[in-house]
Amino acid sequence: MKTKRAVIIQCRLSSSRLPQKAIKELGGKSVLEWVLLSMHKIKADRYFVATDEDSYPTLKKICEKNDFECFAGDLNNVLKRYCDLIKKIKAETIIRATADNPFLFYEAAEASLVEFENRCKSKIPCDYLTYTGLPHGSGVEIFSGKALLKAAEATSDPYDLEHVGPALYNHKDKFTCDFIKAPARFYYPDLRTTIDTPSDFLRATSIVNYLSDKNVNAPYSTEQIVEACSSDYVKNPVVFYPSVKKGHGTGHLHRCLNATIDSNEFIYIPKTSSLEASSALIEEYKQKGLKDVQIIDQLPDETFSPVIVTDCFELTPEDLKAFEKAKTIISIDEGSDFTDYSDYLLDIIPSYKCLRPANLFDTSFIKKPENVKTNKNRQFENILVCIGGEDPAGLTVPVSALLGRLYPDSKITAVISGDIEKTVGAQKQIDNIHFLPPIQNLKNQLYKYDLVVTHYGLTAFEAFFAGCAVILLASSKLHEQLAQKYNFAYVPENALTEKKLTEALMSPKVFPELPLSIEQKSLGLFINTISKGKKMNCPVCHQTNSQPDKIVSRNSTRTYRRCCNCGIVYMSFSTEADKVYQKAYFFEDYKKQYGKTYQEDFETIKKQCLKRVAVMNNLQAENSAKNVLDIGCAYGPFLSAASDSGLNPFGTDISEDAVSYVKKELHFPASCSAFPEIDTVNEFGISQFDAVTMWYVIEHFKDLDSVLNKVSSILKKGGIFAFSTPSGEGISAKSDSDNFYKISPTDHFSIWEPSRAWKILQKYGFTVEKIISTGHHPERFPSIKKSNSQPGSLKWRCIDKMSRLKNLGDTMEIYCRKTTDKDL
Ligand SMILES: [Zn+2]
Repeated sequence: MKTKRAVIIQCRLSSSRLPQKAIKELGGKSVLEWVLLSMHKIKADRYFVATDEDSYPTLKKICEKNDFECFAGDLNNVLKRYCDLIKKIKAETIIRATADNPFLFYEAAEASLVEFENRCKSKIPCDYLTYTGLPHGSGVEIFSGKALLKAAEATSDPYDLEHVGPALYNHKDKFTCDFIKAPARFYYPDLRTTIDTPSDFLRATSIVNYLSDKNVNAPYSTEQIVEACSSDYVKNPVVFYPSVKKGHGTGHLHRCLNATIDSNEFIYIPKTSSLEASSALIEEYKQKGLKDVQIIDQLPDETFSPVIVTDCFELTPEDLKAFEKAKTIISIDEGSDFTDYSDYLLDIIPSYKCLRPANLFDTSFIKKPENVKTNKNRQFENILVCIGGEDPAGLTVPVSALLGRLYPDSKITAVISGDIEKTVGAQKQIDNIHFLPPIQNLKNQLYKYDLVVTHYGLTAFEAFFAGCAVILLASSKLHEQLAQKYNFAYVPENALTEKKLTEALMSPKVFPELPLSIEQKSLGLFINTISKGKKMNCPVCHQTNSQPDKIVSRNSTRTYRRCCNCGIVYMSFSTEADKVYQKAYFFEDYKKQYGKTYQEDFETIKKQCLKRVAVMNNLQAENSAKNVLDIGCAYGPFLSAASDSGLNPFGTDISEDAVSYVKKELHFPASCSAFPEIDTVNEFGISQFDAVTMWYVIEHFKDLDSVLNKVSSILKKGGIFAFSTPSGEGISAKSDSDNFYKISPTDHFSIWEPSRAWKILQKYGFTVEKIISTGHHPERFPSIKKSNSQPGSLKWRCIDKMSRLKNLGDTMEIYCRKTTDKDL
């Protein structure tokens, strides 16, 4: 009997790049099962998995479960494998897919199958048909069984034998093969859904995590797959990268494992992890919901570029090399000199390194113990000695012995990570001291102890939150300073004697009073938010250097750097949403920032514009009417001023409302466009203007290079390019730089400085003629703030004069002349 339609999935278990990928578990099912579930949605007469003898027994079980038949054929000559099956079942039309594509577009497969059969019915020759432009890994091939048998007889090319389809479409002289652009619903050529590499497998895991969170079950529809692939969660995978080095303790791993569970992301634990406690810890967290697929021992490559979250204590050059393919780097409590590599720095544990600014310092991310002590006393009946997960200075045994003598009636529990026998001998109990391996879920057991002896780190803060008395043993000068700074009772470095220990025990600080928030925030969820942040290169040079650009300022949503090449200050990382420059921007947003709407401000702005036109006219010799293009013209105050002064104004703006106002109310030619995407010849019949202006617009461009090139190309040689922008060397930036950047609007991507502007402009053929410092605000000077001097007072007037003299205004106007054609 003939088989009209046969679905044949090709599958083998001996893949070299990702062994056994077909039976790898993906969201509770094997990858192959995902393929079978979606292919079963296609109406066919028989469904087959075509494999080799070795893989047959394993795959047969999966096939039976999913209503597929299993066929064993040639291992390497896949073309022969297909042909043998086609002959056996007398198949007319084949729908072919491979077992490494769990997210097939079965709707597209069905549609292309109908298209193929319609051609056959209408006697239009067609041996092979497939849609193009589907995500890489979501497509199938449809072909005629008869044609394939014929093709197999005619070819011996190894490539044809291994890949089936090419036996037809690489021989177009003999066969009719149609590659049809997929209908829009299926057309996503930039997406990738196949599983070919370990990184692909991680992406597939993210897709399944994303959709199972929304209670979507397999097989997924086209729309669901596209939604998942386009989501921030799948586009910005996060990999936590904790230190698992000996000597760093287990705090980093604990914190990252918790955050991995909360964020539903990945954690990198190398196979070579030297931390003895790590495997026990991982088991502990699996009980709390950590999944096997979340633990990876290889970082994803550029095809699934991750956001790396480091929790390493100190990053090393080797770590940084491993992050070369990372999208962004977020670092937690980072203490090395390499912090400029981090796009975002989060400090959670109070640190002594105040000189190194972080984007955010927030102790609310410290995971608080569930149980808290109710009674505080100095009897210390139960004492815990726990020097982190490890004890590099070997203090556990001596301090336990001292405590044992000082408190003979108390029970002392001392944690030894690693081989207890090697450390204390065969006896696990000496007098009142009990030696134990690391305590599982320690944070929530702390409340059982009256006194916790530890070193500076997470356990110290957890013990504080649990209400215990705390003593720190300093293992370095830095730890001593930290203990002092945060008001802990401590024993100094290399000074563990009965006397010093007694002093610490008697100190009132043994019950520390720390000014810490008791609020509990989830680190994992916070990282989910930050990971959506965008990283940006220098808007002028665009290049990525081997060394990161120097940090200028960090705040909770943004990072600013100075380009080492051109010197401009730019926003290098931002978690803020992009602004939309439509009507609301000029009315609501403007009012929020300046206290009045743009149009209420029209006359004031126009007055200023008249002054600007005067400066421009002074720089230009002839008095004939000149064409001036105002980029970002808004509601036209400059156009109006230019026209009053005898110039021919033209305007362009991204806001349709503004452009239509300029045209209808002010009657100036204007065009709605997102500069530099404008064809001035087409719009205004002008290829080069006598002047081009941008008033408070230049800082809004993410790509200054294209903007300045375009300005140069539409300006006559000798013409004037004038713009205004906030000054990065004004009093606000000079007196409190971090605050200046913190309050800088989130859509100002570059900050210009009078002293460096000439160098950047020169690159584009401009010579700076004049810089006018504007926006003088005596009230922003520290001395006025301090003395509370009033406008009009002598001091006020002196400061105002100085501000103008020394160009300390918070804004500036730059006038430059095009002196060279850039292309020459
Ligand atoms: Zn640059």
